[in-house]
Amino acid sequence: MVDIFRYESNSFSMAEHGGTHLDAPAHFWKGGWRVHDIPLTRFIGPGVVIDISARAQQNPDAQVEVADLLKWEEDHGKIPERAMVLMNSGWSQRWPNKTLVFGSRTPDDSSTFHFPGFSPKASQWLVDNRKHINAIGVDTPSVDYGQSRDFETHVITAGASLVCLENIAHLDKIPVKGATINAIPMKIRDGSGAPVRMFAIMNNVNAAQDVHFAKISFLVILVAITFT
Ligand SMILES: [Zn+2]
Repeated sequence: MVDIFRYESNSFSMAEHGGTHLDAPAHFWKGGWRVHDIPLTRFIGPGVVIDISARAQQNPDAQVEVADLLKWEEDHGKIPERAMVLMNSGWSQRWPNKTLVFGSRTPDDSSTFHFPGFSPKASQWLVDNRKHINAIGVDTPSVDYGQSRDFETHVITAGASLVCLENIAHLDKIPVKGATINAIPMKIRDGSGAPVRMFAIMNNVNAAQDVHFAKISFLVILVAITFT
């Protein structure tokens, strides 16, 4: 007789801010929400993908600017309530090469980082003018670009109780409008951040670029980077 009984159980440990993860407002704002404080409704919302990949290919210090947000609205209408505003800079293709991800030959020295993010002005514009959004997110290690010294975008968004999402993958595979983004974090009590299981659901089959999925009523695309 073949013995098929099996019991497996492992342990793991990790930093809060590694892989695809969420920054709770408390990460940069004293008294701000910690992971367990954030309402579940903040983790789900319509995806707004801001594609700056062409610019980022030329310039690793490129940032999402107010003009990019206005252009998106010109093309697709007003950024909706509860939106998850996500930067696609093409950076996730560089994962997991540390030198490429951080844009530096010395990735242990943060002063040498070169990767895209949200400009403080764009973040402030969202907070002032589109205050009903849920989150901003990036396909790079930080919502502040690599050369930031004062992490203004983190401070601006944390002060407005927005969630930040970092190291997102596959944003090039979802439409710039029309997907529902789910960014569900591990519920770490008192966490300043947490790993996120992130995925997009597309109810509109026409939005799916892969004809293979044309007959499926909805499509789920995983947008999380796996740990290595
Ligand atoms: Zn973080």
